Amino acid sequence: MTEAALHAALVGLVLALAPLTFLTLLLVPAPYGRHSRPGWGPLMDTTLSWIVMESPSVFAYLLFHFRGARAWDAVPLVFLCLWLAHYLHRAFVYPLAVRSRGGRTPVAIVAMGFSFNLVNSYINATWITVLGPAYPLGWMASPQFLAGAFLFVAGFWINREADRRLRALREEAAGGYGVPRGWLFERVSCPNYLGEILEWCGWALLTWSPAGLAFAVYTVANLAPRALAHHRWYRSQFPDYPRRRKALLPLALLAAGLALAPSFAGAEDAAAAIAEGDSLFARRAEGTRGLVADPAMVDQAIAAYRRAVAQAPTDLEALGRLLHALHFRGAYCGASREVQMPIFEEGRKLGQSAVDRLEKQVGGRPGPERLAALRAVPGAAAVLYWTTGHWGEWALVRGKWAAAREGVAGKVRDLAQTVADLDPDLDEGGAFRVLGRLHDQAPKIPLITGWVSKRKGIEYLRRSLALGPESRATWLFLGEAILDHEAANKAEALSLLRRCAESPPRPDHAVEDAHYADLARATLRTQR
Ligand code: NDP
Repeated sequence: MTEAALHAALVGLVLALAPLTFLTLLLVPAPYGRHSRPGWGPLMDTTLSWIVMESPSVFAYLLFHFRGARAWDAVPLVFLCLWLAHYLHRAFVYPLAVRSRGGRTPVAIVAMGFSFNLVNSYINATWITVLGPAYPLGWMASPQFLAGAFLFVAGFWINREADRRLRALREEAAGGYGVPRGWLFERVSCPNYLGEILEWCGWALLTWSPAGLAFAVYTVANLAPRALAHHRWYRSQFPDYPRRRKALLPLALLAAGLALAPSFAGAEDAAAAIAEGDSLFARRAEGTRGLVADPAMVDQAIAAYRRAVAQAPTDLEALGRLLHALHFRGAYCGASREVQMPIFEEGRKLGQSAVDRLEKQVGGRPGPERLAALRAVPGAAAVLYWTTGHWGEWALVRGKWAAAREGVAGKVRDLAQTVADLDPDLDEGGAFRVLGRLHDQAPKIPLITGWVSKRKGIEYLRRSLALGPESRATWLFLGEAILDHEAANKAEALSLLRRCAESPPRPDHAVEDAHYADLARATLRTQR
């Protein structure tokens, strides 16, 4: 079983358990606190029970987070800080502060809580640093992150403030129960649960992840019936209990939640489809014969990315991945010209219309402001970059001269320059590689591509090499450009081409590296 399949199964399990938990707890309130009753097996000290139950959310989460390749990326670290802010408090501060009435909690409840927290830590941390799409820095300016962070922080504060007020009430009530008054308690019986629910809905939004959604849904399933049970209990114990108070949710909040739910569900489907596409695309070298990749795996990845784009048409993370996969399908799977043409045609159209929308969005702003606005859109750089890839391949299939006369070279130059400004490291210095190859290969046609410069081409390729010193494509393109235009450096060119021809392909670029090695061998043969 792959990690992606295990993760999907556990997310599915949490989602499936949610309605069962909800219905069960409606009928049988969890037997701790005021709902304690005999018949639930061995008991343990309540303070210790909280520490045991919640500690996986600190230790296991840290373990799962830091085993991931993206553990040290800025956005996952911000997520980690938010998570720990909640769980260090819940596991170690809250239990020691709580004034339980010498209470004892069934070991069975502790075991269930412990297991849930272990699974929940796994699915959330693994999505963020291992399986989910990478979160670029610009994610923190996205509406999902901003709205989610607001809900998380508001929920965190409400939860802690409510628990603090309950502790004060416990003192006032001489160790027993009293009727909470003032603040949010005038609206609802359990603002601590309301805060907790807001926090995890915020988390689901700000991580935009299936794991976050599963946790939010489960939190509602767990706490809403308990809030109802508390509310009924208050009414039965205190005849003067305020009649207008709700159990958990002021009605306005419930209505807002119901209104937002459908669009949120759609977006989560998109995230799941992206994850599925990523795990299929990572296996694109499977079944490769000679230099030709088997299209089966990449076709499935393309289908998953198409679903993601259909679910979330404005999500550029999904579109960038679709463009990359389509590019691979057209360039590395042995497609004939007839098969290639519609693929690159689709790629350039999809990419260009997204680019046009983006430019409209930032339209008219001066250089640095335009770049800052583009940088704030997650996935924008990748869409621009893969659009250059489709334009370039489309031009090769159509014929360099015809394409240059139609202004394609100028378009690719402008797109690649924007990517170089936005994210020069993307695809191992890919933007400078595109610029270099463009200057090297584009025909110089007066008034149309008069700006083409072979010297500049070599300069760009050298910059690309500095950013991606292991890129086989850069070794090949730079080697060929030097051979053609810098005879004095022929030895350097031959050494680059030999490295490209002889270095073993890297596992995550197996097909692409083998392809460039073959081209380098062909160029070297012409030098004998
Ligand atoms: P409760 O509201 O039942 O109790 C919180 C504390 O306040 C307990 O010590 C309780 O004492 C005391 N207390 C409650 N009401 C009164 C009152 N009217 N007068 C005096 N004292 C009172 O919360 P839980 O114990 O169920 O949960 C504690 C925290 O854990 C909450 O912040 C909750 O959000 C969180 N939690 C989160 C879950 C999740 O799914 N994410 C699941 C469960 C809890 P006593 O124990 O004696 O009743």
